[in-house]
Amino acid sequence: MKYVVVSGGVISGIGKGVLASSTGLLLKTLGLRVTSIKIDPYLNIDAGTMSPLEHGECFVLDDGGEVDLDLGNYERYLGISLTRDHNITTGKIYSSVIEKERKGDYLGKTVQVVPHITNAIQEWIERVSRIPVDNSGVEPDVCIIELGGTVGDIESAPFVEALRQFQFRVGHENFALIHVSLVPVIHGEQKTKPTQAAIKDLRSLGLMPDMIGCRCSTLLEKPTIDKIAMFCHVGPEQVLAIHDVSSTYHVPLLLKEQKMVQYLSKRLKLDDLNVSPQMA
Ligand code: ADP
Repeated sequence: MKYVVVSGGVISGIGKGVLASSTGLLLKTLGLRVTSIKIDPYLNIDAGTMSPLEHGECFVLDDGGEVDLDLGNYERYLGISLTRDHNITTGKIYSSVIEKERKGDYLGKTVQVVPHITNAIQEWIERVSRIPVDNSGVEPDVCIIELGGTVGDIESAPFVEALRQFQFRVGHENFALIHVSLVPVIHGEQKTKPTQAAIKDLRSLGLMPDMIGCRCSTLLEKPTIDKIAMFCHVGPEQVLAIHDVSSTYHVPLLLKEQKMVQYLSKRLKLDDLNVSPQMA
């Protein structure tokens, strides 16, 4: 199983969901079976009890699970059917750990965020990523994991730590990370400092970006891409320029033009998976 994590920095609502679904769609064009998991670092068990005014309408899955809207994006982009367990929330993780604690499963140990919550997150991801999500009934090849919120928030800290450990649990060639950041345009100039700070925060938590998705209101200029590459210790081919488009269905094309698939194929050794292309 290959895992592609999409996280975000600077601000929320930056387009992580759209980038994650678009990445999944491009990997699907290679003939890979793609599934997805959305992590929402709030204490609600699910989105069913949250005001639509605050979070948008919740999306109802085939199994009745009331989940974040992003799962609707995944189902539409990838042609899959997800379960309630594909939406992980802090509430679900804590609830499962506390239930185990009450049963005495931890054999008298002090139950802590590290390792018990972080282990529960990793086990949940491994279990759910293997669930077949299309008509074939076959286990998926790739799992896209979208980490909601912003890296650096108190809420997402246990998930960031779990993913830090997870990269070693599954191995380097099975784990890639795309971090989405904002490039604001101030007085006509594309500013890279927020991205530099976001990547610094990410690295300080033990996660290294394989690709940096740069959301910008205008087309990202070549000098901006080069500057981000230089200050964030990545190659220019690892910087993805994602400007505002009239329809988010254009985003997969933007990523395709920037050879994202070729980069991920090499990075995750996707050729070894032995699949036949489904579409061009
Ligand atoms: P996040 O997952 O980071 O909260 P979303 O993927 O839900 O962000 O996107 C937030 C909003 O921005 C959505 O309304 C989405 O349609 C819009 N959006 C995302 N990417 C783009 C883009 N490249 N151009 C225009 N709008 C976008």
